Amino acid sequence: MFLWRATEIIISATGNKNVQFKPEYLKVALDNLMDRFQVKYFLHTTMIDAKRNGQNITSVTCFDDEGCFTVKAKVFVDATGDANLCHLAGARTVWGNEDGQVMAATLPFRLAGVDTSQDMSPAAVERAVKAGKEAGIPNLTRERGFIQKMTGSKEVMVLLPSVIPTGISAEDLTDMEKFTRGQALHYIEAFRWFMPGMEHCELTMIGPSIGFRETRRMVGRYTLSAEDVLTRRTFEDGIGRGGFKPEIHLGLKEAATYLDVPHGSYYDIPLGCLQSADTENLYGAGRLISADHQAMAASRVMGTCFVTGHGAGVAAAIQAKTGKADVPAIRAELEQQGAMI
Ligand SMILES: Cc1cc2nc3c(=O)[nH]c(=O)nc-3n(C[C@H](O)[C@H](O)[C@H](O)COP(=O)(O)OP(=O)(O)OC[C@H]3O[C@@H](n4cnc5c(N)ncnc54)[C@H](O)[C@@H]3O)c2cc1C
Repeated sequence: MFLWRATEIIISATGNKNVQFKPEYLKVALDNLMDRFQVKYFLHTTMIDAKRNGQNITSVTCFDDEGCFTVKAKVFVDATGDANLCHLAGARTVWGNEDGQVMAATLPFRLAGVDTSQDMSPAAVERAVKAGKEAGIPNLTRERGFIQKMTGSKEVMVLLPSVIPTGISAEDLTDMEKFTRGQALHYIEAFRWFMPGMEHCELTMIGPSIGFRETRRMVGRYTLSAEDVLTRRTFEDGIGRGGFKPEIHLGLKEAATYLDVPHGSYYDIPLGCLQSADTENLYGAGRLISADHQAMAASRVMGTCFVTGHGAGVAAAIQAKTGKADVPAIRAELEQQGAMI
């Protein structure tokens, strides 16, 4: 038996099915996975430029502590969350909804020394935050939000300090992280005073960087729509399935709103959502895939990011080998590798 195998399923206050993982163990698990499939990968590397020739990317320039180096490939996959490769390569991208607004970004933090047998529901959070506000504690932006109990410990993860991003430059990120870090300390003050079970809590960690739900997305050959998600549409070029409902965080004050999908249903993710509209050898994976604002509020979750990563990886490998995105071959290979399509 492995002590670190902690994938207990919890039904949260919102009705979501939470599969908790332990990030510190996950780092090693992912290293092992990469080794098993003999993948050569570089950490501590930043891609800073991309060169294109007509409809194709020819190379990317990367930077590490020893300087710059170039990586050439036949096909590229952008899995940067923020569509950074699309941006650097001049491929079409889009920001947010039709009004140019993206969902709130949140900086999670962790507290130890919490009596987790007490009520930690969004309603209990709201009571404590409102009491804190009445007592004059500043910068308590979001009143309703999630506190996640961490299985097997007295720790909780708090998802409250939030901001609506308007850009992702270094200046924007610095401002947003400074602002939300400051909020974290004020939430802790409110909790110590007004949240039963948190009287003796201690801050153990503020997230290493702000968590974006939505920023820049790739414009693909097909854009997944909210209707596709809500009507559980299937596609002939489906490369995987999404099963989560749209979870939308547009306002700063309240927690998420949901668009409901029938229990036990799924929608297909077509290959076209992973293919850049204007760059022949560029695929997207993760939260940046081509989807409208509400559809991406469903496809942005981690399980679906794994699915699109798998789909984009297999499609890119087949295109690199054969020169084309052969849909039957891509689907056959995915199926052979155990994907549900
Ligand atoms: C507060 C919050 C709570 C959430 N809660 C949940 C949840 O409970 N369940 C769930 O399923 N999902 C949740 N999500 C959503 C989910 O975590 C993300 O949408 C998902 O992890 C995105 O995965 P990704 O692979 O697309 O991007 P990321 O995980 O962001 O990966 C992108 C990677 O690319 C790297 N990168 C970017 N640019 C460059 C560059 N130029 N050079 C080199 N590397 C680069 C980044 O450093 C990063 O490592 C949450 C999101 C937030 C913000």
